[in-house]
Amino acid sequence: MSTEGDEPVKTICPYCGVGCGIKVNQGDDPGDVSFMPWGEAPVNEGRVCIKGGAATQVVDHEDRLTEPLIKEDGEFREATWEEAYSRIVSEMERIRDENDPDAMGFFGSSKTMNEENYLLQKIARRYGTNNVDNCTRMCHASTVWALRRSLGAGAMTNSMVDLEESADVFWIQGANPGEQHPIANSQYFRQAVLEGATVIQVDPHANKTTRSFKIGETDRHMHLQVNPGADIPLLNIVLKTILERHEEEPDAGWIDEAFIDERTEGFDHLKETLEDFDKEAAAEEAGVPLEDIELAAEKYAMANNAAIFTGMGMSQHTCGVDNVQNEINLALITGNLGKPGTGVNPLRGQNNVQGTSDVGAMPNVLPGYQPVNDDEARGSVEDVWGFEVPDEPGLTNVEISHEAGHSVKGLYVMGENPIMSEPDGNEVEERLKSLEFMVAQDIFMTETAEFADVVLPATTWAERGGTVTNTDRRVQRMRGAEMVHENTKHDLDILMEVGSRLFSEDEFRFDDVEAVFEELREVCPIYHGMTYDALGETGIQWPCYEEGDQGDQYLYEDSFDTESGLGHIEGVRHQPPAEVPDEEYPLILTTARLEEHYNTGTMSRRSPTLMRQHPENFVDVHPNDAEEYGIEDGDMVTLRSRRGEIEVKAQVTEDIKEGVVWTTPHFAAASANRLTNDVLDERAKIPEYKAAAADIAVT
Ligand code: SF4
Repeated sequence: MSTEGDEPVKTICPYCGVGCGIKVNQGDDPGDVSFMPWGEAPVNEGRVCIKGGAATQVVDHEDRLTEPLIKEDGEFREATWEEAYSRIVSEMERIRDENDPDAMGFFGSSKTMNEENYLLQKIARRYGTNNVDNCTRMCHASTVWALRRSLGAGAMTNSMVDLEESADVFWIQGANPGEQHPIANSQYFRQAVLEGATVIQVDPHANKTTRSFKIGETDRHMHLQVNPGADIPLLNIVLKTILERHEEEPDAGWIDEAFIDERTEGFDHLKETLEDFDKEAAAEEAGVPLEDIELAAEKYAMANNAAIFTGMGMSQHTCGVDNVQNEINLALITGNLGKPGTGVNPLRGQNNVQGTSDVGAMPNVLPGYQPVNDDEARGSVEDVWGFEVPDEPGLTNVEISHEAGHSVKGLYVMGENPIMSEPDGNEVEERLKSLEFMVAQDIFMTETAEFADVVLPATTWAERGGTVTNTDRRVQRMRGAEMVHENTKHDLDILMEVGSRLFSEDEFRFDDVEAVFEELREVCPIYHGMTYDALGETGIQWPCYEEGDQGDQYLYEDSFDTESGLGHIEGVRHQPPAEVPDEEYPLILTTARLEEHYNTGTMSRRSPTLMRQHPENFVDVHPNDAEEYGIEDGDMVTLRSRRGEIEVKAQVTEDIKEGVVWTTPHFAAASANRLTNDVLDERAKIPEYKAAAADIAVT
């Protein structure tokens, strides 16, 4: 039976950041769970993609962890919760006593809810470290960095609804909503396109987005098939073209002079950066005909309202911050910010990747993006918490893994699988094996949990309540059906117990999940006006500073949330990827996700429906490269980089650019992340997943 009488429970899909509402129907046997559409759901009005429809298949899966496990002499044995908690507390205390608090790291999870991540980061800070992070680091840390610095908030500037209603041009760079945000694509963007909007796609790979809008079949939409890592040259051509045309036709509206004068700073820096810029050479670098880029520039600049969507093809580079800054430059000089149908809009990955960062599971900020080194902000949080928070930023995800076995001795992993999600997975595996102590809290035995000392069986998304925040800043409530396995526990209950035993009941015991949200909103200004009652069934988009506020559909109508109130323009120059092709590794490897799987596949690989669609990994190879390497479609090939090799089936296709190979991170036996490069963007510390040197041969 569900927790709402006999009615199916209204909750949120656990997969992507679109945040579709779905219903979970539960029979008399709690394990009898099934999906039902929720017709009035605020985001999706009942529609779901294949993942949402299959999401209940993991809830009663035979692989579920059902008892706590403790490792002894290299083998797991079942343990009681008491034994598991005692071991965790004694090991965490020992590590702190023998070293210092920074010898522990904590990984939050975008698969878990705001309240759970809030409590995890509070435990880390109470322990005395800011070494807490989440998978935002892997997907949009650079986007968040650039948006916060130049506009004010690290999130979508606009909303799916206003974009659908008002955008004339969608500039989609390094994102593939057709595959990764299917309902946003098929519901919102498709409707806008049906009403006349134009799509300009910038991506090395032709994909479901290309096909869904029939890009290339008419002159209306465009696909600029850019080389991986050459987004700055391409956007600099766009910017320079717009500036040149403005010189020629000052009244034609190529740029928005009034907007630049009144609402921005740094325009001169952009002009200086582009003064000697060579468009022909840049087009060569980008691998796209110059006239195509110029035409795309015209379509964007001449639109009444043009919206940029940005994805991991932009963010996951050593120049990720600069990539996104250049998109901000484009939006600011054309006045495409602060009004409906415009903006710079990161399409976020997991269903709560926005919220995990909002609530402070990051090493440099507290809830609400308040910097840990800002005395006033930190003091206001300390007043509520009643303890001091370290004032120096901690280590990021990848830095914690790099330090594992060195300065980091222990790791608490909630709902993450870094051996598959982080780049250079072979090295991550070695580093995690060298830890003195690791806790893994999850619903399945992941590739990472195999190396843990204590494994805690948590409940699934369908069995517990809380809040999640979707890609357009909408905080929505999830509601839980009955637990399927009686000796599993909700993540929040586990964290309350660990926190209470390590520190005190006063600080970490709450009556229920709503009480945790009440404390969260007290310390998180952008959530301050939200209550569970006010969230209701529709949710509220942040910022929501006062009770009664309904939140903002689009940001920056009057001013930007920067210190000066101005939008920050800054010219950027091309920086090639850290690894470029050479004799030994002559190809560029790039990676992306599939519609039918999710990230490390912990859940999606256990769904029969999804596995039927894509049971194994594959690599896309251009026909000319296939001919050169003697590869036939369907051959098993060995894909190699400086960090490892995987065996996958070759798919010979013109979808991918010549000289580039494309594969996915979802499958344990052949994950792209055994090959990817762990070099980081200097500022945002995001790894360069999207470009590595590689070689390929028939196996
Ligand atoms: Fe779930 Fe995203 Fe599909 Fe919606 S679009 S059903 S949120 S995976």
